[in-house]
Amino acid sequence: MYVYKSKIKKDYKVFLAFIVIVFSISYCDIYAQNSKEVFGPITIVIHGGAGTIKRENMSSELEKSYFGKLQEAINKGYEILEGGGTSVEAVVLTVSILEDSPLFNAGKGAVFTHEGKNELDASIMDGKTLNAGAIAGVSIIKNPIKLAEAVMTHSVHVMLSGSGAEQFAKEQGIEIVDPEYFYTEKRYKSLQKILEDDDGDSSIKKEYPGFKYGTVGVLALDRYGNLAAGTSTGGMTNKKFGRIGDSPIIGAGTYADNHSCAVSSTGHGEYFIRKVVAYDIASKMKYAGMTIQEAAEKVIYEELPALGGTGGVICLDKYGNFSMVFNTEGMYRGYKQEGKGSNVFIYK
Ligand code: ASP
Repeated sequence: MYVYKSKIKKDYKVFLAFIVIVFSISYCDIYAQNSKEVFGPITIVIHGGAGTIKRENMSSELEKSYFGKLQEAINKGYEILEGGGTSVEAVVLTVSILEDSPLFNAGKGAVFTHEGKNELDASIMDGKTLNAGAIAGVSIIKNPIKLAEAVMTHSVHVMLSGSGAEQFAKEQGIEIVDPEYFYTEKRYKSLQKILEDDDGDSSIKKEYPGFKYGTVGVLALDRYGNLAAGTSTGGMTNKKFGRIGDSPIIGAGTYADNHSCAVSSTGHGEYFIRKVVAYDIASKMKYAGMTIQEAAEKVIYEELPALGGTGGVICLDKYGNFSMVFNTEGMYRGYKQEGKGSNVFIYK
């Protein structure tokens, strides 16, 4: 009798343990399903600068070159994402391709300062970790975006400038070039033209007629649901006194946060800094519940022009929603998204 009772007790314990295990497994499963992060398809969005870009001023050959280079950069960046690469890797590669082209005001095609030099700025931000890296006023770095990434990854700082940044680049094995590398006849002529009408006003207040910006920016969403943003520029033609624009300023020219969006700006940097444009767009989504399109339009169509600022932005959230908004005649821009295809545009 005693043996029989103890057997029942044992069986009962085994049964209880079994129930507990079954419940735990199903609970974990339900929890895992509920907490599984939802995000959109792999996406790349790029810009090559905003400004007075008119169809009537563009030869069909030049137009073809712009479309070709934008598409090439988009495809290469997308390949990285397709192969399981991260959004940061895609941004660095895509920006580098645009930097290597003389068509854009970044890297090889950078504009000239008042003194006839080229001083480059760039920044990058990782939307998963909120890590960021930026460099300003460098003259011998072939691909400023690679140096910005090195600052983000291999330093405890966010922004380095001038000769210090160049020293860091050498230590990191980043490719160095002779300053002559950045000479292009087209940009040099633009400086000469501006210098002819230069009345000595050193406050950089005026908007040059027919001003084309040409900064480059790239946003990416990878297979793991992470966003990244990068921007690179030569700044503004005829800039003086070591002027730095918005492009290397985190929150103005570049921003990325998985919880809101990634943004890259192009335009008259002084206004973008004062309006903290990239962060403002992300905040409008985060705190005011605006969609990515609403937030970008509010800033670019209403708030920035109210101050006198011109330019545009590209924005992308982790669900794959993106916007490309500008208040100028045109903006070189394009995208590629899994399931949606690819497109490039120049004019309105
Ligand atoms: N935003 C850049 C700057 O002010 C210029 C540009 O976008 O082309 O330096």
